[in-house]
Amino acid sequence: MTTLNANLWEKCRDKIRNDITEESYNTWFQPINFVSITETKLVLSVPNTFYKDCLEQNYLDIINSTLNSFTQSSIQACFEIENNSFNHPKQETPKLKNEKKAHSLSFTAATINPNTASSTINPKYNFENFVVGSSNQFAHAAARSVADNPKVTYNPLFVYGGVGLGKTHLLHAMGNAILKTNPQTKVRYLSAESFTVDLIESLKQDDMRNFRSRYRPLDVLFVDDIQFLAGKERTQEEFFYTFNALHQMHKQVILSSDSYPKDLSRVEERLRSRFEAGLVADIEPPDLETKIAIIYKKAETHNKQIPSDVATFIATNIKTNVRELEGLLLRVIAYASFTRRFIDLELTKEVLAEFICDVNRNFNLPTIMAAVADHFEIKVSDIKSKKRTRNISVPRQIAMYLCRTKTKLSLPEIGRQFGGKDHTTVIFANKKISELLNKNNPLKKIVNIIVSDIESGKTIKNIVKRSE
Ligand code: ADP
Ligand code: MG
Repeated sequence: MTTLNANLWEKCRDKIRNDITEESYNTWFQPINFVSITETKLVLSVPNTFYKDCLEQNYLDIINSTLNSFTQSSIQACFEIENNSFNHPKQETPKLKNEKKAHSLSFTAATINPNTASSTINPKYNFENFVVGSSNQFAHAAARSVADNPKVTYNPLFVYGGVGLGKTHLLHAMGNAILKTNPQTKVRYLSAESFTVDLIESLKQDDMRNFRSRYRPLDVLFVDDIQFLAGKERTQEEFFYTFNALHQMHKQVILSSDSYPKDLSRVEERLRSRFEAGLVADIEPPDLETKIAIIYKKAETHNKQIPSDVATFIATNIKTNVRELEGLLLRVIAYASFTRRFIDLELTKEVLAEFICDVNRNFNLPTIMAAVADHFEIKVSDIKSKKRTRNISVPRQIAMYLCRTKTKLSLPEIGRQFGGKDHTTVIFANKKISELLNKNNPLKKIVNIIVSDIESGKTIKNIVKRSE
């Protein structure tokens, strides 16, 4: 009789490896971790819902049949999303489990450093694969500086920014850099959620001494998503002691959060002011160029070449969140691999049709004209007029360019709407502005602002406000 344990899964996985391409194996099976097995169920964990969906759709049958060819029974495999609090995944109370973030990390233990396994630093995230752009330049520089010289420069370092913008990546990158320089450093990374779970368990077992002994000897403590402490008074109190103990011993503390320390609601003032006392660095949503660079970087890690029109298409259609960007890119790669097609724009549009937001949704002639007029502080009637002074003609050309590139209006129609201009005027405006933008003219920044005013709905709000 076959023993039901992790070895069985290993055997099953090795067998499948012979049946599918190396690429598919690396993409889909490498990140799977064994969780448990019973006579009816094999539980496997995967990094996120994307893997779960794809594996269920495409590989569940092969996993089940291979598994049961060894056991002669009918064990069903199922997938759960990994928890990124590796130290205590089994100890979570159901309530905390429900509060768990959708995001989690895949973790291949101890591939870099013996210390990595206990530190839970994820070797996958490093500075080399972190793309720097104007949106994260400051946070990156601060992170590098702290990683190069822990406890000397900024303590604590507090990184904040929206969901999926690279905070966790940056924290792990620092951890990896610190361990690379000095493998003996006692580093620990955990989420504020894991810290809470750890505390609850320790209180339950009346073992606070042990709890403190896990944190006080550290050289570097990372606590991710500190906003999770909101409203948890006992945890905040204990975190306050932990923080002070480390800080007093000049040990480095690195924190991340979704908001600026002062804006952390239901977090004690004494903690907020401590968070602010070191260096606070924010990460903004990436601009288009950074998004494209991130796509190339992510494609590289999958050994894929992405044509530039595909990268631009994905980047343009995802507003801000890098995690979504990555998910969509993976979907494109996976689809191309399943269907054995090249990654091109046609395939990308096919795959992403249901996911992308309609970027052109807010673009129509009145909104474009209003956004341009607002930005240059001129009147819409000026744009439609025959005036040829530069302060009017340049905004008019920008508005024409936006109508041409963002709406389906024909050239003559655009000309007509701009006060009865000829369609050749529209062609000229479109060409001129396109060329300037390609040359990285300062105008580019202005056009980007106008576009984002329209996309974000700011222009519409202004129009409504004026009509009230
Ligand atoms: P956050 O913690 O801010 O919610 P993460 O650090 O988990 O976001 O980032 C989400 C995903 O986006 C990760 O896979 C990360 O590698 C990727 N990512 C975010 N920013 C960058 C960047 N600047 N360069 C490369 N990858 C990035
Ligand atoms: Mg995070």
